[in-house]
Amino acid sequence: MAPLIIDGTIVSAAVEVRTVERVAALAARGVTPGLAVVLVGDDPASRSYVNMKEKDCARIGIRSFDYRLGAQTGQDELDVLMRRLNADPDVHGILVQQPFPAHLDVEHVVAAVSPEKDVDGFHPENLGRLMRGLPGHRACTPWGVMRMLDHYGIDPRGKRAVVVGRSLLVGKPMGLMLLERDATVTWCHSRTADLAAVCREADILVAAIGRPRMIGPEHVKEGAVVIDVGINRTDEGMVGDVDFTAVAPKVCAITPVPGGVGPMTRAMLMSNTVDSAERTA
Ligand code: NDP
Repeated sequence: MAPLIIDGTIVSAAVEVRTVERVAALAARGVTPGLAVVLVGDDPASRSYVNMKEKDCARIGIRSFDYRLGAQTGQDELDVLMRRLNADPDVHGILVQQPFPAHLDVEHVVAAVSPEKDVDGFHPENLGRLMRGLPGHRACTPWGVMRMLDHYGIDPRGKRAVVVGRSLLVGKPMGLMLLERDATVTWCHSRTADLAAVCREADILVAAIGRPRMIGPEHVKEGAVVIDVGINRTDEGMVGDVDFTAVAPKVCAITPVPGGVGPMTRAMLMSNTVDSAERTA
């Protein structure tokens, strides 16, 4: 039987409808959610992400504040901007687009955003809150994956979940969110022995690796749910970390690339920004 295609375009549209309703409710109280988008340097992929996020804001009714800074911008200058944005009551969310130029210290920049406005969910306090099971901004990509699973009625409770990737942006918070929902979670990474065997234990397999089509049918149990977070630009266009064509016949549900997790990340960013505005309103 053909697998269920977990369609991020449909789920992100559903999230957006709700976000627009919430923006309207805030407008009735005289509040317009605001998102400051900060880009340091001129990386073309980052520029395109930032442009898309600003378009999302315009469509949804979120005010965006655009800061495009030169690649040589120093830590001190960025700190000054962060302090200003943290104090600005019109700014409810701050996004500093990653990756940063090498001379900036990622840990410092991430910690300079106030946790309340950290709509990316990368601040140590928000990651700590996730670890402790407390409310707080959740990292948009894994949070979007959880929303997709919910939309399709895929309950992680009691399931074996394997997350390939342990980055702070995706893999680690992904596993913690699945654990929070009572999955039994295993993280894999570049040093994992016999990756395929570990992955084959998964009822829910999440690939967040950054290697084009690395996950093949030998990594997948019959009837598993496969979530492909990977975005890899190749000569053949954008592909995921999962070999979709080879894996799909074996599984019960799978996300495509593009059109899977990608649209969810942006939808959750908008939703987190509105969460922040609601908290302060
Ligand atoms: P990172 O490079 O930070 O992390 C990659 C992870 O994959 C690391 O933990 C690494 O292990 C692991 N890994 C690398 N090679 C192997 C291997 N051969 N076997 C097993 N594990 C391996 O990437 P990100 O987490 O930031 O992103 C992952 C992917 O998701 C990328 O393609 C990225 O473009 C995409 N992405 C997509 C988003 C979306 O909106 N859909 C948003 C964010 C990212 P180790 O720790 O040992 O090095």
